[in-house]
Amino acid sequence: MKKAHAHGFRKEQIELEQCLTCKGKAVVQGVFHELACVDCNCSGWVMAGSRLTISTDELVTQLSLRLQQAQREIEVLQRGPTLSGPAEYYQQNNRRGAGGSNYTGD
Ligand SMILES: [Zn+2]
Repeated sequence: MKKAHAHGFRKEQIELEQCLTCKGKAVVQGVFHELACVDCNCSGWVMAGSRLTISTDELVTQLSLRLQQAQREIEVLQRGPTLSGPAEYYQQNNRRGAGGSNYTGD
């Protein structure tokens, strides 16, 4: 069997948004204990816009992409302000910090 390279399998990132039912927690408060949230396949995430549940197979890939992205952002933030680093991350962080207020825009 030939190994699939770039063809056949393309990891397309789906825009995700927090599940409204569990507020991204992946669990909902039941009567006695927390229950797995069925609306988001226990992931806390649904497809942005349509709010469709993502299949577990797809979720693994999507959460991996999301995690990789988050880890890159964390690395950038941990490195602190650098002259060669991505400016937008620093500016975002700086704006939030310098403002002093707890403005989330929510
Ligand atoms: Zn949910």
